[in-house]
Amino acid sequence: MFIFENFMMSEKRILITGAAGFLGSHLCDRFIKEGCFVMGMDNLITGDLRNIEHLFGLENFVFYHHDVSNFVHVPGKLDYILHFASPASPIDYLKIPIQTLKVGSLGTHNLLGLALAKRARILVASTSEVYGDPLVHPQNEDYWGNVNPVGPRGVYDEAKRFQEAMTMAYHTYHKLETRIVRIFNTYGPRMRLNDGRVLPAFIGQALRGEDLTAFGDGTQTRSFCFVDDLVEGIYRLLLSDYVQPMNIGNPNEITINEFAQEIIRLTQTDQKVIYKPLPTDDPKQRKPDISRAKEILGWEPRIFRKEGLKITFDYFRNLPKERWFEDPYGREFIKKN
Ligand code: UDP
Repeated sequence: MFIFENFMMSEKRILITGAAGFLGSHLCDRFIKEGCFVMGMDNLITGDLRNIEHLFGLENFVFYHHDVSNFVHVPGKLDYILHFASPASPIDYLKIPIQTLKVGSLGTHNLLGLALAKRARILVASTSEVYGDPLVHPQNEDYWGNVNPVGPRGVYDEAKRFQEAMTMAYHTYHKLETRIVRIFNTYGPRMRLNDGRVLPAFIGQALRGEDLTAFGDGTQTRSFCFVDDLVEGIYRLLLSDYVQPMNIGNPNEITINEFAQEIIRLTQTDQKVIYKPLPTDDPKQRKPDISRAKEILGWEPRIFRKEGLKITFDYFRNLPKERWFEDPYGREFIKKN
């Protein structure tokens, strides 16, 4: 069991990249709650200011509209960096493959450089995608993965693998304080509706009265973690002294077919499940081995899917109705690119 650092979080200054995204915005909330001075940064290509507009009036929050694939600077002392900027849905990888590659590689390099210049500790968001279509089940951190570098997901997977290599090199060569979290499928309020990921897809379809689209035969598995659990795991990892990659996710595994039925029950709709072709290189199974997080961080997820899905559905249901129909790849998206 490790010993958490004992210090005043209220004196800490933290930069969070991807701040207007799903995970970034929840991390901003958490570090604001801890009393930190939070600098949020985002280029707003896939991020959405509506996720953080409640923070804009606060004295301990500032927002920088910037693309971290270009040189990054922030004024003053910096204690921590959380690098969470990246497109994160398979449709994003298809639509903006070069930006996806750049933010994971060049963006990471810029932020490692900033961390070094400021003597800050940096935690980078890696992903279960580094395991590719895994041949080991469940996936533990010692598994090296089964990734197709030139497939559609390769732009994300390989950028994240490079990110891990680069981060570790800065740790060994520059003695930089680094942390690497491998994030498994996570869900919760503020996911981007209609970006193709399975949970916002199913919930959006249920709300609009459309049938739910399962890809392939729906027998592939995923393991879904509620965002609050993930944020707690990341918080603990940042404050730990552990530098090797750490899986954070919920090991409760289900098939996509079962997941669709859960959403239908939850939303009390009588939608059917219809089947669409399986995307290329779609992993057949995914489930984190979280022994390391349990042992080193004393962390494990606490929120059952039933509870987490209800919170998430209520969030989407209470959005202004026109948002259910929003196309995240509409004119605005094209203009930003
Ligand atoms: N999926 C699906 N229907 C959809 C969207 C996704 O059946 O409308 C499947 C997808 O093929 C994958 C799983 O759900 O097997 C999770 O997809 P997601 O894009 O959310 O994340 P991934 O884990 O693949 O990165």
